[in-house]
Amino acid sequence: MGDIDMQNYAEAELRQQLLKTSQKLAELGLNKGSSGNASVRCEDGFLITPSGLSIENITISRLVKMHLDGSFEANNNPSSEWRFHRDIFVNRPEVNAIIHTHSMFASTLSTFRRDIPAFHYMIALCGGDSIRCAPYALFGTQQLSDNAVTALQNRQACLLANHGMIVVGKSLENTLSIAQELETLCEQYLRALQVGEPYILSQQEMLQVQEKFKDYGVWSDKT
Ligand code: 13P
Ligand code: ZN
Repeated sequence: MGDIDMQNYAEAELRQQLLKTSQKLAELGLNKGSSGNASVRCEDGFLITPSGLSIENITISRLVKMHLDGSFEANNNPSSEWRFHRDIFVNRPEVNAIIHTHSMFASTLSTFRRDIPAFHYMIALCGGDSIRCAPYALFGTQQLSDNAVTALQNRQACLLANHGMIVVGKSLENTLSIAQELETLCEQYLRALQVGEPYILSQQEMLQVQEKFKDYGVWSDKT
């Protein structure tokens, strides 16, 4: 296969994976209607879900190929959140996939505009001892993107105030797993807050968890 054929082959495969991931997000109830979006890095930019379409109407050819300068090649408009997808790919070379959801518990928790502390050891999955909540900004704006990139520093996930969550990872599979876990954590934290203020793990305890995660499951260094 020549270089161009190889590139087309890789892109076709990534389109399949992106559609499958978007369908899975709907199946899992993490996204409903046209809420949320997803993207995957490709050879010369990234592929992103189209704007304003629910999953039943998204097809392989409706996924939009974008370049890092914000230009795109398609009849469909890219997700209105292409700015934060683009800015994350530019700022985080190790990131290959991004998922944004309006899932029930992450969105509910985001309305309190507070970071999630280490109330459960699985918080370490997102790269540290807390998950930040990015300050509110209108959807689709550069301000929202700037806020998200800052909240994601040294992290795999953040909440967006009064909106939802963003998760970033090395593959679509890895990113989807983290999104599922984060939604569970948000549900647990909301339930805990109904009883009172949960105990918070120390920095030292969380560093130990992060160390142990290096060998654990789909989010280990080895997958
Ligand atoms: P898009 O349909 O444009 O991706 O918008 C959905 C969304 O979640 C906006 O924040
Ligand atoms: Zn959104």
